[in-house]
Amino acid sequence: MGSSFLHIPQTNPRAGYLAQQPEIDAAVSRVLEGGSYILGREVEIFEAAFADFIGVAHAVACASGTDAIELALRACGIGTGDLVFTVSHTAVATVAAIERAGAIAVFIDVEPGTYTMAPYELSRALQTPLSGRPAAVLPVHLYGQPAELCALGDIARAHGLRLIEDCAQSHGASYRGRATGSVGDVGCFSFYPTKNLGAAGDGGMAITNDAAIAAALREIREYGWKERFVSTRIGINSRLDPLQAAILDVKLRRLAGDNARRQAIASRYDAGLAGLPLVAPARRADAIHVFHQYVIRLAERDALRERLRAAGIGTGVHYPVPVHLQPAYRDRCAAGPSDLGLTERAARQILSLPMYPQLSDAEVDQVISEIREFFAN
Ligand SMILES: *Cc1c(COP(=O)(O)O)cnc(C)c1O
Repeated sequence: MGSSFLHIPQTNPRAGYLAQQPEIDAAVSRVLEGGSYILGREVEIFEAAFADFIGVAHAVACASGTDAIELALRACGIGTGDLVFTVSHTAVATVAAIERAGAIAVFIDVEPGTYTMAPYELSRALQTPLSGRPAAVLPVHLYGQPAELCALGDIARAHGLRLIEDCAQSHGASYRGRATGSVGDVGCFSFYPTKNLGAAGDGGMAITNDAAIAAALREIREYGWKERFVSTRIGINSRLDPLQAAILDVKLRRLAGDNARRQAIASRYDAGLAGLPLVAPARRADAIHVFHQYVIRLAERDALRERLRAAGIGTGVHYPVPVHLQPAYRDRCAAGPSDLGLTERAARQILSLPMYPQLSDAEVDQVISEIREFFAN
C-alpha cells in the first residue's frame, strides 16, 4: 500500500460536504438557476446570518480571509508607513494583508501556553522608540483560542490604536462572554475550506459594530464604489460569490454543533494523552476555545510525526517557519523590539493532530494509542 495513503487525515473538508450534501447541492442548483452570480441576495442573506451568529451589527463578505484583513485596515484608515502590531506565529496571510494595505508589521512574541500575542510584550514594544506611526494591534485567535482580548484591548485603547482581530481560526469562539470578532473595531474571518466554517473555495468576512467602517468596507471591496460607477475612494475587487454564500449559509447552521464536536474531540485527546511527556493545549480561563486545531508540543515532534505518518495518521505543523524567518520577510519586516524566542521554539515543537467534526471517537482513540506506543518504546 502506498505510504501516502492516510487512514485518518489531519483535516477532511469533504466529510463536511457529505454531512450536508442534499442541502448544499440544492443551494448550489438554486444559485445556478437564479442567474445572478456576483453579490446580491444570497450574499446579503449570509451576511445577515453571520452577523447574527456572532452578534454584531454589520458583516461584509469578501473573497478571502487575507482580503478581510486588508479591507479592515484600509477601512480604518491604516496605510502607508503605519505600524501594525501582530504575531509572527501565524499564517503568512496575516502579514501579507498588512503589507498589501501598505502598512508595516511589527512582530510581538506569543504567550507560552496559548500561542497568542503576549500583552506584556506588546506593552514593552510600545514603550520603545519606533520609526512609523503605531496604528493598530492585530492579534490572531490561533487554533480557535481567543487571544487575551481584554488586556490587548486595554493597551490598544490607552495608546489610541485600532484593535483588529484575525478570527480566521476562531468562528464561534468567545472570551468573557464576547464572541471573537465583536470586541475589536473589526473582526476578520476566512472561509478557507478547512476552517471551522469552510466554503467550497475561497471566502472571507469582515464584521464590525461601526456603521462608518461597514460602509467603508463595502465600498473598498468593490472598486471604491459609493454607488454604481462612482468611486469615491480607491478600492479593490474582493467579493464573495453567491455560490459560496449559499453553501456557507447551509454550513453555518451546523457551526455550533461542529464546534461542540471539536471540543469533545479535544477533551478526548486531553484525557487519552494525560501523563505523557508532551504539552497539551492550554485553555484560557473564561474563554470558549473552538479547536480549529488540537496542537501538542514536544521536543521529539518530527519523530512522532513520522511514526504517525507510517501508521496512516495525518498531522500538520501550524506553522513550521515563523513569518519573520520566511525568505520573503526576513530582513524586511520590522522585527519588533520584542524577542521572538517563544515563537521560534513553538515552530520547532508543535504538532497538529487530526481534528475535524466527523472524526469518530474510535479514530481519536487510534491516534491516542499510536502516540502512547511511541512514548512506550
Ligand atoms: C487561513 C488564515 C488566514 C487567511 O485566510 P485566507 O482565506 O486563506 O486568505 C489568515 N489568518 C489566519 C490565522 C489563518 O489561519
